Amino acid sequence: MKNVNNAYLLLTPGPLTTSENVRSAMLKDWCTWDDEYNQLVQKIRRKLVDLATHYRHEYTSVLMQGSGTFVVESVIGTVMPKESGKLLIAANGAYGKRMIQIANVLNIDTVVSITNEQEPVNILEIEQILKSDDTITHVAVVHCETTTGILNPIEAICRLAKKYNKITIVDAMSSFGGIDLDVHDYQIDYLISSANKCIQGVPGFGFVIAKTDELEKCKGNARSLSLNLYDQYETMENNHGKWRFTSPTHVVHAFYQALMELEEEGGIPARHKRYKNNQKILAKGMEEIGFRPLVKEEYQSPIITSFCFPNSTFNFRSFYLSLKQNGFVIYPGKVSEIDTFRIGNIGEVYENDIINLINAVNESCLKLEGAVKI
Ligand SMILES: *Cc1c(COP(=O)(O)O)cnc(C)c1O
Repeated sequence: MKNVNNAYLLLTPGPLTTSENVRSAMLKDWCTWDDEYNQLVQKIRRKLVDLATHYRHEYTSVLMQGSGTFVVESVIGTVMPKESGKLLIAANGAYGKRMIQIANVLNIDTVVSITNEQEPVNILEIEQILKSDDTITHVAVVHCETTTGILNPIEAICRLAKKYNKITIVDAMSSFGGIDLDVHDYQIDYLISSANKCIQGVPGFGFVIAKTDELEKCKGNARSLSLNLYDQYETMENNHGKWRFTSPTHVVHAFYQALMELEEEGGIPARHKRYKNNQKILAKGMEEIGFRPLVKEEYQSPIITSFCFPNSTFNFRSFYLSLKQNGFVIYPGKVSEIDTFRIGNIGEVYENDIINLINAVNESCLKLEGAVKI
């Protein structure tokens, strides 16, 4: 039994189900400026770069306090030049739209390419925009749009953006560690993720993998004191792993343990295989019961799956509570036009857990007959 102390299995993409050992790593107090602790931070920074690329000498990583959104905001607010920067944001869901909100709040000049939530972002339209507006300096896109579970073609988009000499920003929050990529080959300058997604740590900080020579140009750009990515980088570099302000020491220790467990599992390819298998079994089992996935199979990520309500009288709350009683917590939908719910399969979640979930879904449908009639 891996998770005897948990009330239920979290099938939500962050916070997600973590291992006993990850949670146990938080049972001690640590000093935030002690050498040993800072060395651990440096180790984590190096390991993150190694996970992101084979060209480690060209990249660095920076850890930043807060949830994932804080880190997205720190990147957009720090890397956009104060004068004459323009950001193209391609969005097909809530997280793409959140980047637009961030840019608006920060008064950053923005162009957007918005696609229907059930489709990947539109690369032809992105190229049209890049062709017609040479004042654009940066391009931002979400990798796995957690709203729906769609995987966007970030490699093609970032390569295209580079053809036009743009700086590229990827929100890979829910995919990094679960889907293999190389920021160098994909031409990504800034990749953003957080502790509590595919690395399987607990919430409390996020991180950025950055092309070092690009980040070095960002001194003085930041529109925020605490979310200044450059200053955080400079302090971590000059003081060998020191954070500017109080760091989430327990969370960082848990994260280190989570990184070790990722290595033990066989790295990102092995983790990807497990997630993909979880997703396949989930989608097949749910379809057999009568739940239709929202997203076409070719666009579907191995991270999270959206299912359409089977009919207009479907009562998600009863369904949710029944599954919770059986030890599974799922996610409400986030799509604007269609009623959906979501089931994540990342975290300390294995094939057997998904099979047990499918059984619980079956039982719930029978028990709740009227409420969840299919
Ligand atoms: C989780 C997530 C975020 C960050 O959300 P927070 O609630 O701020 O942690 C950003 N983008 C994507 C794609 C995500 O999945």
